[in-house]
Amino acid sequence: MARYTGPACRLCRRENEKLFLKGERCLSGKCSFERRAYAPGDHGKSGSGRGGDKASDYARQLRAKQKARRTYGVLERQFRRMFGIASKKRGQTGLVMLQLLETRLDNVVFRLGFAENRAQARQLVSHGHFMVNGVRSDIPSMILKPGDQISICENSKGKTFFKDFAEVAEKRNCVGWLDRDVKAISGRVLRLPERAEIDGNITEQLIVEYYSR
Ligand code: SF4
Repeated sequence: MARYTGPACRLCRRENEKLFLKGERCLSGKCSFERRAYAPGDHGKSGSGRGGDKASDYARQLRAKQKARRTYGVLERQFRRMFGIASKKRGQTGLVMLQLLETRLDNVVFRLGFAENRAQARQLVSHGHFMVNGVRSDIPSMILKPGDQISICENSKGKTFFKDFAEVAEKRNCVGWLDRDVKAISGRVLRLPERAEIDGNITEQLIVEYYSR
């Protein structure tokens, strides 16, 4: 399972906006983007490469795709594969693509408030701490369906990480398309998310245009 292992803050600076990849730190003064709001690299301060109003269609499509990919922590090959799946399904391809990304197991764990950020959710899943419908699953990219149940493995409940877990998770928000029981560290997918419930900063139409070139 390949994943990006470089500095997360560099990705925000590259996309010229906060992608909130780290959790609490993103809301504090320690956020790198607050201190260095320019692109990484030698030419970052000059602003070259960001395009602005003069950006070509291709540049805008590429940036939209990269932003979504980095937000969800998915590498190019898998992201393209998800687009292929979305384009074969009924409905608007862009929205279906976002729904696929949202219903990934790691993202659902994050949305339930059981992890500080998606990277941590991915790690919790790949270390086998969660079950889907009573069966242990360590595949972060697993796509969940309405009705699927997520719960913590019995063996994991005694681990130090999950001590006081309920109190921490309680403070985090949970989205409306999921139902959760914080004390039991479990949740359920009620339905697919609507567009308004997915991060508004992603322009899915540009992603569709990028892959339809
Ligand atoms: Fe992005 Fe968070 Fe790093 Fe700020 S702290 S640059 S929002 S990942």
